[in-house]
Amino acid sequence: MLYRKAFNFNQRMLNLVLFGPPGAGKGTQSQKLIDKYGLIHLSTGDLLRSEISQGTELGLEAKKLMDNGILVPDSVVIGMISSKLDSNKNAKGFIFDGFPRTVAQAEALDTLLESKDAPISGMIALEVNDAELENRLLLRGKDSGRPDDANPEVIRKRIKEYNEKTAPVAGFYKGQNKFKSINGIGSVEEIFDAINEVISTYQVSPKVNQ
Ligand code: AMP
Repeated sequence: MLYRKAFNFNQRMLNLVLFGPPGAGKGTQSQKLIDKYGLIHLSTGDLLRSEISQGTELGLEAKKLMDNGILVPDSVVIGMISSKLDSNKNAKGFIFDGFPRTVAQAEALDTLLESKDAPISGMIALEVNDAELENRLLLRGKDSGRPDDANPEVIRKRIKEYNEKTAPVAGFYKGQNKFKSINGIGSVEEIFDAINEVISTYQVSPKVNQ
């Protein structure tokens, strides 16, 4: 056990953090990665929207913040991720999409995964400039039905929250030598190829779905 931990060569699971500002393409790429590697998709945004549509108390509280482009409290999203990890004990691995969004969330995630002996394999960041993000989100807002995609002011607030609170999470993974960024502008396939190239450098041998 100690030997395995010390050399970290027998990591079973592919645990990927897909990182980037709102509108960078994390959701689109997550879907393709799930299909290829059979991973479980954990998107805190999707989990929160599901709470909202079920009309739970948590959902109602979160909605007020989400509609204004403000992050919900760390304890809320950490609790949701913790219970999803517990309910997917036999997963081949996870894609974390939109989580962690603060350094406190990243620290909590490491602690949760440590207890499962299944650390984060790496963080892959999709780089997209602010002007392109605003355009993409406004376009997406035309059919996503998301209130936070429809209003330019809220979009700018979300990008500001990202730059202030979320961008430092990259430094957390850089400190662990687990950070790689790639160009998030290009065709979906080009970006997917670049992500797969990074995954191929990990010390895991993810099973590709047939
Ligand atoms: P997303 O679908 O990832 O763009 O998230 C939509 C909104 O949900 C964000 O603007 C936040 O208000 C909230 N949210 C999602 N994930 C998190 C997180 N990890 N931490 C805090 N707030 C989050």
